[in-house]
Parts: sequence; C-alpha cells; structure tokens
Amino acid sequence: MKKISKSIRTKFTLIFIGILSFSCASSLIISLAISRILKLLDINFYSHGQNITQNVILIITLHICVLIGSITVFFVTKRIVKPIKQFSDSTKEIGKGNFDIQIDYKSHDEIGVLADNFNKMVQELKSMEYLRKDFMSSVSHEFKTPIASIQGFVEILKDKNLPKESFDEYTDIIIEETKRLNNLCSNMLRLSRLDNQIIQNEAKVFSLDEQIRKTLLLLEEQWSKKNLDLNLNLEKVTYSGDEELMQQVWVNLIGNAIKFSNDQGCIDISLKKDKQNIIITIKDNGIGISEESKSRIYEKFYQGDASRASEGNGLGLAIVKRIIEICNGDITFESKAGDGTVFKVTL
Ligand code: ADP
Repeated sequence: MKKISKSIRTKFTLIFIGILSFSCASSLIISLAISRILKLLDINFYSHGQNITQNVILIITLHICVLIGSITVFFVTKRIVKPIKQFSDSTKEIGKGNFDIQIDYKSHDEIGVLADNFNKMVQELKSMEYLRKDFMSSVSHEFKTPIASIQGFVEILKDKNLPKESFDEYTDIIIEETKRLNNLCSNMLRLSRLDNQIIQNEAKVFSLDEQIRKTLLLLEEQWSKKNLDLNLNLEKVTYSGDEELMQQVWVNLIGNAIKFSNDQGCIDISLKKDKQNIIITIKDNGIGISEESKSRIYEKFYQGDASRASEGNGLGLAIVKRIIEICNGDITFESKAGDGTVFKVTL
C-alpha cells in the first residue's frame, strides 16, 4: 500500500481520473443548464423533434468537456514537469562548475527520490571539487618552497668571492632540497598508484618480524642520532601479502615515531598474532598529537608540527592508510600531546 501511494504512476492515474470526472461533471451541469435555458426561452426545438435538441446538446457538451479537460491537463502537467525543468537547469549549472545548487522537491515519489539522490550527488561533487582545489594548492606550495630555496642559493653560489665554508653549506642545502623534491615526487606517484589500486598486486608469504627488524636497520642512522631506546617484542609471524607495500607501512610509521621522539626517547614495537588477526603496535613517548590534528593526520599534505615540516611532506600517513585499506586491515592510534603516540595496525 505504501509503495502504491508513493508511485508516480498512481499519481498520474488519480490525476487522470480527477480530470475526467471533473470535466464530465462540469459538462453535465452545463448541458443541463443549456436545456433549461432552451426550455425557459421556449425555443420550441421539441417541436422539430427531440433528437435534434439532444444531438446539439451532446455536441456542445463534448466540446466543452474537451476544452475543460485540455485546460486542466495543461496546468496539471506544468506542475508535474516543473521539477524536471529544475533538474535540467541544475545540470546546466553544475556543468558550469556551480555546485551551490539543491533541488527543492519534497515528495516520496520517484521524482522525490531522484531529487534526494541528485542533491547528495551535488554535495559529493562539491566536496571533491574542494579537495581537488585544496590538493592543487598544497602540491604547488610543496613544490614552490624547495624550488624557491634552490633558486636563491644557486644565485648566491654565482658569487666568485664566496668563502669555501659558505659554498659547502649552500650546496648541502641545495642537495637536501633536491632530495626533498625527489621524495615528494616519489610519494605523490606512489599515492596516485595506490589510489587506483584495489587489491594487493603480488601476494607472497614473508616473515613480518624479519621485515620490521630490516626496517629498523634501514632507519638506524635516524634513531641512533637521537639516542633512542628501542624495545622490540616481536613474535615469529608470517604474512601473505605485498612485501614492498608492507615495508612502506613500517618505514612510515617507525620513521614518524623516530621523527617525533625527543632525544633519549623510547620506542616500543610489538608484533602479536591471535587466532584471527596479526596486531602490530608502534609506541613512542615523543611530542604526541594535538587534539585539533587528530582528525586530520591521514589527510594528504597535512603536517601537524610546523617545526618538523621540512622533514616530511605530509603524505606518509595517507600512504599508510591506503595500503592498510588495500590489505583489508585496520589502523588506529591513541595519542596525547606531550605524552607520545601509539599506532596499532591490525591485519
Ligand atoms: P609527515 O611525517 O611527513 O609530516 P605524515 O603523513 O607521516 O606526514 O604525518 C602527518 C602528521 O601526523 C605529522 O605531521 C604529525 O603532525 C602527525 N604524526 C604522525 N605520526 C606521529 C607521531 N608518531 N607522533 C606525533 N605526531 C605524529
């Protein structure tokens, strides 16, 4: 019953019946009125025969009926077509890039559902457009800063009288900035590849504990420079998946734990397996994540700590999140500003 009351077909049928009944009733009244007038005027049509009178009345009635019906249909269809016209105008506006558009049609019929979905689609497109613009400005900013710095130092290097120490210092900065640009390009390419990837490319069985140890060796220069204390509690666990992608996860998460730790800090890494899941936690007692940053850390190019902005590009956690999604896993974190952070990956 509910379905029938919502259907636009039912509406059309009811409208049609309404128009038909209305035009029949009005034409009946008119025909009665005509015969009454004829009687009153005593135009003695009856004497010429009842059939002629009846035929004339019938023809007039039919014409009036068609006229009333057509006028009613004209106005009723105008009302039905109104939202369709609204759709047409809105799609034209969206085509021009105006996403501040909503269709105001409150009904439970098919057009109402279409209007609802259309409004949701416009909202989605609007947020995507916003993200695209935001993304473009972040990309330009990330590229512009090192390029401007390289340009500035190269100009200084043209000075023939530059002392040797300054020359070395500036060339080191240029090398650092080019490394940063290189890193940025690789991360952007990686992320764009991951955004288009749905499943893991090559699944292979490998040892996760071994991989985490290898990652720590890879990052040795960074953690030994800060004199960090590493506590490992790694069970022997094998995992079937894309080894390279997984390695990227540990490089980024452990890299962040090191980067956001203070000197002489402490990092605990644990790897456990229960009946269903593999659980990896990476805990540091570093600077922690502020409340306002917590909801944004997985955003592309977001960097919470401005003082360490030059050490990364804000793509690390976006990459980690995407990889974990591809692996059907889960990543969560807990953090308190000043106390440290713990990331938990469940595979
Ligand atoms: P990047 O490290 O290049 O800045 P990420 O995407 O890896 O970018 O991280 C985004 C932000 O999340 C960081 O800028 C930082 O503010 C916060 N963050 C990530 N990991 C940690 C951590 N272990 N401790 C404190 N803050 C962190």
